[in-house]
Amino acid sequence: MRVLFVTPECAPLVKAGGLGDVSASLPLALRRLGHEVDVLLPGYSDALAKVGALQDEERCAHLGFEARLRRAEALLFLDCAPLYARGGGPYQDPGGHDWPDNALRFGFLSRVAADLGARYDVVHCNDWPAALTPAFAHAEKTLLTIHNLAFQGNYEPSWLARLGLSDAMFTMERLEFHGRVSFLKAGLVYSATLNTVSPTYAREIQSPEHGCGLDGLLRARASALTGILNGIDADVWDPARDPHLAARYNIEDLQAKARNKQQLQRRLNLEVNADCPLLGFVGRLTHQKGADLIAAAAAELVGLNSQLAVLGRGERDIEAALSAVAARHPGRVAVAIAFDEPLAHLIEAGADVFLMPSRFEPCGLNQMYSQRYGTPPVARATGGLVDTVIDGETGFLFERAEGSALAAAVRRALAVWREPGRWREIQRAGMQRDFSWRGAARQYADLYSRLAKARVS
Ligand code: ADP
Repeated sequence: MRVLFVTPECAPLVKAGGLGDVSASLPLALRRLGHEVDVLLPGYSDALAKVGALQDEERCAHLGFEARLRRAEALLFLDCAPLYARGGGPYQDPGGHDWPDNALRFGFLSRVAADLGARYDVVHCNDWPAALTPAFAHAEKTLLTIHNLAFQGNYEPSWLARLGLSDAMFTMERLEFHGRVSFLKAGLVYSATLNTVSPTYAREIQSPEHGCGLDGLLRARASALTGILNGIDADVWDPARDPHLAARYNIEDLQAKARNKQQLQRRLNLEVNADCPLLGFVGRLTHQKGADLIAAAAAELVGLNSQLAVLGRGERDIEAALSAVAARHPGRVAVAIAFDEPLAHLIEAGADVFLMPSRFEPCGLNQMYSQRYGTPPVARATGGLVDTVIDGETGFLFERAEGSALAAAVRRALAVWREPGRWREIQRAGMQRDFSWRGAARQYADLYSRLAKARVS
């Protein structure tokens, strides 16, 4: 199959979260199965500067902009300086505010993807920034993957004309959503096939509780919607080979893990003490990730004689609450407000327990990394966390999205941690699991063939 994979992120060039990792690993795994996959992404200036030689391809002009497609192997960059040559992140300016022209930046990406789609068997769109593609063209060969239903790309109706879409599309059956133009809804309506990144989340989003207002539409499209669990990049996330660690280790020999704990404690100015259980968290400091629950439970967690290491960036009030907790508990709680890939690896390796108290979680990657690193997760029983953590065997699950429920689950984990023999079993059971992309890539390839077959028949 020839596949055009359309995405706003691709690690390590540009990554705001899990989609960046997926956009790097999944195309690679599909190529290993013999498929040809081109990845189309905006030509952010930072990303272009990071890749080496670029080969100029054709020019394209749409919506009043001219762009040049530039290729670095299988990566196709949409180089359009007025839209993508700026500092900051893929979606936000350096101050953390959404770029005011995001509708145009990603509308343009989708418009060009729709043009290029003619040359491919499948157009695989990812999340709202690519979701307008099938509204322009090639709906019958489009797969839309929902990585997070909460990000929808909803804009004022005046954007409709600016994006070159007809007024006739502005109805409740198509892309109108509460009086606005919704990129994600367009993708959900027009794409021939839909999937999300775990079986549990695929079910959850069909309910009002997790449906973000789109559950009715998702129920109507249930026969086109599946859940495929993300994999992880087992080369990048391998404690036996990870260059960011103070010491490398494997399932046979977990001794060296302790050196990473020591290094992490030193690096974050925590008391260097092997007997203090160290709880780690890496991720967006948002309500979704339950980062506020960590702040709420912090005093209780510290009371369990444990230490807490938090790395992330996100909502200002949560950042502030966590920083205040750190200030109250010097040497016991450390909070790094940053995006720091090497530190993320060190936390996965150096912590004893990994926290993932998400309110909802489409798939989640960190709980898979942590199992691979012998750092059992304490996670909320939601979405992909249910599908990847086996309670009592590879980690610990809890139900209620409350600080006290998180603390109770940590208590349960630490009771086992104090029995080294049993803890080793849990560590080993997690480390043995196969979270590689192989299985997921096959399932995506199956969806692609079904799409192709449906078109022929
Ligand atoms: P998301 O909902 O943010 O996509 P995932 O768990 O699917 O959550 O993926 C998050 C990815 O981003 C992981 O690879 C995680 O390690 C990484 N990440 C998140 N925040 C940070 C940070 N502050 N520093 C380094 N890596 C981070």
